[in-house]
Amino acid sequence: MSKSLAGYTDHFLRAPAILMDLSGLLSIPSMGGSEAETHAQEFVAALMREAGLEVHTWDMDLAQITADPQFPGQEVERVQGLGVLGIWRGTGGAPALLINGHTDVVPPGDPQAWSADPFLSRSQQINNQDALLARGACDMKGGLMAAWAAVKHLRATGFTPKGDLLFAPVIGEEDGGLGTYSLITEGFANYYNLDQHEIMGAVIPEPTSLAAICANGGALTFRLRIHGAAIHASRRTEGVSAIEKFFPIHQALAKFEEIRNVNVDARMDRWPVAYPISIGTVHSGDWASTVPDLLVAEGRFGIALGEETEVAQRAFEDCVAKACARDPWLCDYPVEVQWWGGQFASGETDEQARIIENLDQAHMRITDQRLEKYGAPYGSDLRLLTGLAGIPTVQYGPGDAVVAHAPDEYVYISELETTASVIAEMIQISIS
Ligand SMILES: [Zn+2]
Repeated sequence: MSKSLAGYTDHFLRAPAILMDLSGLLSIPSMGGSEAETHAQEFVAALMREAGLEVHTWDMDLAQITADPQFPGQEVERVQGLGVLGIWRGTGGAPALLINGHTDVVPPGDPQAWSADPFLSRSQQINNQDALLARGACDMKGGLMAAWAAVKHLRATGFTPKGDLLFAPVIGEEDGGLGTYSLITEGFANYYNLDQHEIMGAVIPEPTSLAAICANGGALTFRLRIHGAAIHASRRTEGVSAIEKFFPIHQALAKFEEIRNVNVDARMDRWPVAYPISIGTVHSGDWASTVPDLLVAEGRFGIALGEETEVAQRAFEDCVAKACARDPWLCDYPVEVQWWGGQFASGETDEQARIIENLDQAHMRITDQRLEKYGAPYGSDLRLLTGLAGIPTVQYGPGDAVVAHAPDEYVYISELETTASVIAEMIQISIS
């Protein structure tokens, strides 16, 4: 497979070897906020120690980092967080390369919707191809272990890097980016000072179906509090239903979404709605025959490429305020907008960046196909690496994001192998 290493065994780049490490990682139910989130980090740290990398681990100072004004937010309770940074020291004379990937997964949801235990990986034919099914197979333990296979392969074949290779599994990606935030503010600060080292780029092997995602729209989690006036349902016209007062707000947000999606950036125009606004939860009322006096709706607000988070927040608040101004009740009792939980800014890497050129070359050598490049409508750790740490970052990995977070999530095994080979190739191009 790896043409530049012809003559060496490809053992670590092949499915049986990849699946050995991957099935172990998939068996850990590392949902955000669970104790297993730490176990998954320990699992990857152990793999790296076993392979002889220099491995640093740290207990995140959660009180301090969550109080930081730049902290991107989290949506689950955490009492612990384990940071892990593996370093393969190069001989010098080239900048470093970072591989970053999250080990946390979202909960499996309704177990009945799964064909088997979500944390017991199994292979199955899907669309006439061998696929591996489990929570996290696609997003993104599959990609992370394929990238790890590339590192193992290079170590086994005697590759001597000039630049350092950094391998950083992280937690908390799904609910805001705690792990990568800690990697930058604690991991790099204590174990790999970015003022003294240059990192030429980062690859996040998130599920991209082997395309390069160089830009991410942002996503801000919001909460709306809509007030009404409670009264016995038999006298409803003398009260105000918070549910009915939500309708004009919902309509205004739908219109706002439409306007924001006219003439989107060319990197995003493949998506039906590049920057969606979606209501995820609605809670109102506590008694069937009482007119509800409060409705709380939570949702997700898509941020455009290059759009400042604060500017977008103000535009959203303005849209809600204008809708309130058109309604006499809402004029007197305006809807409150709260920003909480994950606050993903948008992020992007120049398509001319060396990391993307190198990936392009590696992908071409392994697959004989040009690398497709575009932006994605979801927020990810990419924006923390580009925005906070100034590291040009690209997502490239196995699996289709459309099955991520869904029951019977899967990844094609051939894509795991291709990712391993392409990343092995890319590491050689980048830090030799
Ligand atoms: Zn992911």
